[in-house]
Amino acid sequence: MATETLTIDCLTEAHTDQLGRAIGLAVEPGLVVALTGNLGAGKTRLVQAAAAALQVEDQDVSSPTFVLIREYAGTTPVYHFDTYRLRDLDEFLELGADEYMHGDGVCFIEWAERMAEALPRDRLSITIEVTTPSSRRFQITASGTRSRRVLARLTPFKQTGAE
Ligand code: ATP
Ligand code: MG
Repeated sequence: MATETLTIDCLTEAHTDQLGRAIGLAVEPGLVVALTGNLGAGKTRLVQAAAAALQVEDQDVSSPTFVLIREYAGTTPVYHFDTYRLRDLDEFLELGADEYMHGDGVCFIEWAERMAEALPRDRLSITIEVTTPSSRRFQITASGTRSRRVLARLTPFKQTGAE
């Protein structure tokens, strides 16, 4: 199945916030968002903005590094994983990852490339590259029917949001 990629340069953190909000408005239940990028790239920042658009209370969303999985009650349930400290796929699955990924919410998974084998084929993959201390390049790729539908909803952001 063909993949499609959208590249968006966010020159400021406020712009990343706008992208995150657009993602929050574009997602749908059952979507898995796989986030890849170095320490401090902006994975958590993006999830915070997406969760805000889903009406999750601001203060609820922090880095799940020590908790590994957090659940937020938004207009769609949000499941936020940080797999950085997980040893292997088994540990990921023991957290109930399959149930979350096939559940009624949207999953955001930080360090997703570490768990790639356990992720559904149809997922929205977001790679974040630090371009300057204050700017980031986002590459957003769809790999199936659901993720392509979500990516299509983000296409207008490319035209109006990025500059
Ligand atoms: P970790 O792997 O440690 O979980 P992370 O990818 O989740 O890292 P964040 O916790 O989101 O990274 O931190 C991103 C940092 O980069 C924040 O301190 C934020 O203020 C800063 N930042 C600067 N410019 C931007 C930008 N354009 N977009 C996003 N974050 C930015
Ligand atoms: Mg993080």
